[in-house]
Amino acid sequence: MTQYQTPAQQKLDDISLYINGEFVEASSKETFENLSPFTNEKINLVASGDASDIDQAVAAAKKAFHGEWGQLKLEERLGYVNKIGDLIEEHSEEIAMLESYDTGLPISQTRKMIARSAKNFRFYADMVKSHLYGEAYQVDDEFINYSVRKPVGVAGLITPWNAPFMLETWKIAPALATGNTVVLKPAEWSPLSANRIAEVIDQAGLPDGVFNVVHGYGETAGAALVRHPDVPLISFTGETTTGSEIMKNGADALKQFSMELGGKSPIVIFDDADLDRALDACTWGVFSFNGERCTANSRVYLHEDIADDFIEKLKQRVDNIRVGDPMDPNTQVGPLVHRDHYESVKGYLDLAKEEGCEVYSGKVPEEYSRGNYVAPTLLLNANQNMRVVQEEIFGPVIAVMTFKDEDEVIEKANDVRYGLAGYVWTKDIQRGHRVAQAIDAGMLWVNSQNVRDLRTPFGGSKHSGIGREGGFYAFEFYTETQIIHVSIKDHHIPQFGK
Ligand code: NAD
Repeated sequence: MTQYQTPAQQKLDDISLYINGEFVEASSKETFENLSPFTNEKINLVASGDASDIDQAVAAAKKAFHGEWGQLKLEERLGYVNKIGDLIEEHSEEIAMLESYDTGLPISQTRKMIARSAKNFRFYADMVKSHLYGEAYQVDDEFINYSVRKPVGVAGLITPWNAPFMLETWKIAPALATGNTVVLKPAEWSPLSANRIAEVIDQAGLPDGVFNVVHGYGETAGAALVRHPDVPLISFTGETTTGSEIMKNGADALKQFSMELGGKSPIVIFDDADLDRALDACTWGVFSFNGERCTANSRVYLHEDIADDFIEKLKQRVDNIRVGDPMDPNTQVGPLVHRDHYESVKGYLDLAKEEGCEVYSGKVPEEYSRGNYVAPTLLLNANQNMRVVQEEIFGPVIAVMTFKDEDEVIEKANDVRYGLAGYVWTKDIQRGHRVAQAIDAGMLWVNSQNVRDLRTPFGGSKHSGIGREGGFYAFEFYTETQIIHVSIKDHHIPQFGK
């Protein structure tokens, strides 16, 4: 069997919490095992934080917010943010390896994600400088009113395992750049790179308490963060059902929420499309990141005139995708993150058969039988009523359907509870815009794979999310707008009781 060639192979230290500038064990001394997706063997132990660790982390973050961090000059604060980006870049190869080792994502793909993660910090340092400003309202000759945008306080960040480092930095960068302090609760299945970001931030020398990481289970550490009265902001990325649970738990404390949730995104391919490019995009869009991708095009709608040929080509791609060791730069699909998730995806393949699909899968080489491998799979003859079309499978699996005309495909594309992303392929420019605008989703791409400029809004509609991350949209969440009304001339004041 191929062996990992990674710094992670030298025995990895067990993982601590990072609270108030120190790496510490959980107050309960509890730990949980972190397993390799490639072998299902233990990688290391992770400190399992609970409410008492969350209390300590929040107290440290609150103190830093009102203390040293809150009093820094803007240049100094952004200097730290840029420094984090520099350090990530410096250690990017090592972080990419840890990420692949921990999640099973192919190294060629994690390398790109880590590069992007470093950019998140530089980008938000620049954005805060150039775009975080208030407005002034001159009201006749009586008032000047102006708004300021202030950091809110302690931001609670709760993240998933599917692109952990990228998604964590995506939240940490705007939270810190706008002047908040942070308590991060990373996903329990992918703690390695979350620990590495704590080390990086420690090395960058941020004041104690500005950034804290509490590993642990969602129901304990995560829920305690959500309920904590001193955490006004909860930015969550994860499953829709978890998001809904979190909103219920935070309701009494009237938290502000940013919710990036699940998806079941359509790719619509018309008969006039550039079919070679559409095939590349469709294949990459669902099988990259092992299919564990929130914006994956997990439903393809093919115009009936091109469907047979397109399906034949999809089958060839599925047969040829290189399934393998995530540390091998040639691997295109690696093992799923955890045995439980593997069982869940496999369960959907069984369900697809029961529901009447022809399930067409590629091959997983025999040598990888210990890992959580699911071969790239097509669910042929799928239809809208099937659970495999309605529910997020979150693996390398695509439901394949056909359509006759534009109205029909718009209706089908919208006939799910999710609304995260959508993709339209056609050479008819009017139709491209029209169909994109008719699909109820937060993000649409026309004749394009999922390429995103950091300035653009990211987020979903319907059950895929609330609010937008990215660009200056993140400021809506991470800052509080305050309006100051100043009288510049004596104005009328009613004289009650005079
Ligand atoms: P998940 O909802 O199971 O877990 C996400 C995080 O929430 C984890 O850190 C978990 O410990 C924590 N958590 C669980 N229960 C909690 C509770 N009661 N209170 C507080 N925290 C709790 O999601 P996952 O399986 O880690 O990630 C996969 C999901 O994430 C998919 O549905 C995917 O579509 C979604 N996702 C969405 C986006 C997006 O931007 N919309 C991006 C990536 C992933």
